[in-house]
Amino acid sequence: ESRLAFVEQAPPDPILGVSEAFKRDTSDDRLNLGVGAYRTNDLKPYVLNVVKKAEKIMIESEENKEYLPIEGLAAFNKATAQLLLGEGHPAIKEERVATLQSLSGTGSLRVGADFIGKFLPGRTVYLSNPTWGNHKNIFTDAGVEWKEYRYFDKATVGLAFEGMLEDLKAAPEGSIVVLHGCAHNPTGVDPTREQWGAIADVVEQKGHMPFFDVAYQGFASGSLDDDAWAPRFFAERSIEMMVAQSYSKNLGLYAERVGAINYVLADAAAAKRVLSQNKRIARALYSNPPVHGARIASIVVGRPELFAEWNEEMGMMAGRIKDVRQTLYDELVKNNPDKDWSFVTRQIGMFSFTGLSPPQVENMTQKHHVYMTKDGRISLAGLPSNKAANLASAIVDSFK
Ligand code: PLP
Repeated sequence: ESRLAFVEQAPPDPILGVSEAFKRDTSDDRLNLGVGAYRTNDLKPYVLNVVKKAEKIMIESEENKEYLPIEGLAAFNKATAQLLLGEGHPAIKEERVATLQSLSGTGSLRVGADFIGKFLPGRTVYLSNPTWGNHKNIFTDAGVEWKEYRYFDKATVGLAFEGMLEDLKAAPEGSIVVLHGCAHNPTGVDPTREQWGAIADVVEQKGHMPFFDVAYQGFASGSLDDDAWAPRFFAERSIEMMVAQSYSKNLGLYAERVGAINYVLADAAAAKRVLSQNKRIARALYSNPPVHGARIASIVVGRPELFAEWNEEMGMMAGRIKDVRQTLYDELVKNNPDKDWSFVTRQIGMFSFTGLSPPQVENMTQKHHVYMTKDGRISLAGLPSNKAANLASAIVDSFK
């Protein structure tokens, strides 16, 4: 018998496990609305034209495969901070931003979590309830204590704004508050600009450290600037913050693992020291990041004609999701005009948070072959418009 025989089976990942179950279903009606990955209307994965063009440029210039520095590709780090804060932002000019290229959103969050564990020991991280499930794994594995703040109000299918503020006020001073930059996952509910103002007030009063998770910049509204509004607003108010970025969705670079962890700080000396410690953390975790996707992103962001084309493609992807969202809404109303379905079109980004309970989700899957996460979230990115009517009748049936 193996000396590791005592090791128990780990539970399947609640999001990626959905795809595994989907693969075992042979029905023609099956729909995989679990993972948040963009698909075309024919359910094909989509490689952006700008990505293909950037790769062509890379082949032509015969780039080598030497190690990157620990902090990643310089051109990428410059581009990514600019994309986040806007070109020519004073924090960038004053070298107050420490940026480390890391392994997409997840790896960047993990480096940030390790940094918190090392340099802000004893601080609690506050996560929205609900949040993207992996946030909990990331902070737990980094040995950082986390709690939740109220975020979602079931009754209004909207933001639990008062509850959120109360919880952030009640949190010990100097806590870390994880905020979704835009298109909150899984709810699709974002604070309004006015509400962001009140959140920033509390963060400032309590000396909390905001930790933005920006996984959908440009993908939510189709505009990179609009989707970066919240972290830019905090930067405008000179609130020090951490920001994790991902290029999985907006550049469709899921498997290339392109992202960054940024620290927007009060002065350049602190930024330099913080970067050095992040390099120390990355060195022990994975040594240095992969180069291919970082080159793609830096070429797309750095060349005006490709940048313009990227914006168009992102607008196209965001537009398809908005269209299918509207189609689903129309079908739901047709199916059951007595229920208020307006939350579907109010929600932002890739997902719709349906309000289906775990047993109702079970019905969606067992009876209707619709695969989705247990929390009632569906990814509209995986819904072709010709399946919207089927999905609507499955949802209406499951609510019965
Ligand atoms: N943060 C949120 C809220 C997400 O939804 C995701 C992806 O689903 C990520 C971070 C990180 O994804 P990745 O590691 O692919 O960049």
